[in-house]
Amino acid sequence: MTSSDERWQPGYRRLLAEGLFAKRVEALWALASPCQLCPRRCGVDRFTQLGTCATSSKLHVASWHPHFGEEPPISGIRGSGTIFLANCNLRCVFCQNWDISQRPKAFLHQTMEPEELAEVMLELQDAGCHNINWVSPTHQLSQLVEALFLAAQRGLSIPIVYNTNGYDSVEALRLLDGIVDIYMPDLKYADEKAGELCSRVPNYPQAARAAIAEMYRQVGDSWLTDERGVLRRGLLVRILVLPHNLEGAEGSLAWIAQELSPHVAVSLLSQYRPCHWAARSRYPQLARRITADEYRNALAALDRTNRSENTYVQPFFGS
Ligand code: SF4
Repeated sequence: MTSSDERWQPGYRRLLAEGLFAKRVEALWALASPCQLCPRRCGVDRFTQLGTCATSSKLHVASWHPHFGEEPPISGIRGSGTIFLANCNLRCVFCQNWDISQRPKAFLHQTMEPEELAEVMLELQDAGCHNINWVSPTHQLSQLVEALFLAAQRGLSIPIVYNTNGYDSVEALRLLDGIVDIYMPDLKYADEKAGELCSRVPNYPQAARAAIAEMYRQVGDSWLTDERGVLRRGLLVRILVLPHNLEGAEGSLAWIAQELSPHVAVSLLSQYRPCHWAARSRYPQLARRITADEYRNALAALDRTNRSENTYVQPFFGS
């Protein structure tokens, strides 16, 4: 669906106008103490203790800039206003951003106030970005939504992209209903053991599927775009193909089609390269790029199960 209506506004503006935004901020802070913000459910008081993500109640932000390398409906022509959050609730052994996600000491004292991040969001809007793209937001959600509340009061009016590893709690996501217009989750694994091996987390498939089902409940399988095809509201599920098909694309795609809808947009990615521990021979299964056959397997599963006109397939970058 296309909306060329210049008066279109993201959901959070309505929430603000109705006077309901502040209550969401409050409810998200309540979820951080004791912390239930992600399915690890550490139960720590984020104001005084650190959980598995090693992140305090402050904003720890690594960088921000207009980003042109996301899928075309996200980057558009003027870029996606990307904000890279430091630290992470997963520990992916192949993380290509490991220097941001898995070096908490480096960011311990690198903090921002919500007012400062609100200013950053407004600067990205002024630079022409189509959206504000929170990369790995899960463990800093209370801080982010507080900053968004301030930015919205000062005129922010571009949609939020919730760009997540998929390991999100349903309770937290429910509080984003009407705040987030674009959900872009990974669906990393279909098999629990792969999640344990590659991201050092139990129950990844169950947790991520429950989270994505909640995102689907909120925004469905159809897209709202502007007149240039840039996404305003919708769901895009990313599947990164791994060596030996450890990602289990076949199982994940079958689940999407059967339990959600064959019309959910999927982004199938071939760009895997061994980084972090995977590049240091501790994980021989992950120590190479994917093969043409591995990508073909995933493509065949996509072809069998997915009917979305918005599905995106990355060119093959393997060996
Ligand atoms: S967000 Fe961090 S502290 Fe909270 S449950 Fe997840 S890993 Fe634990």
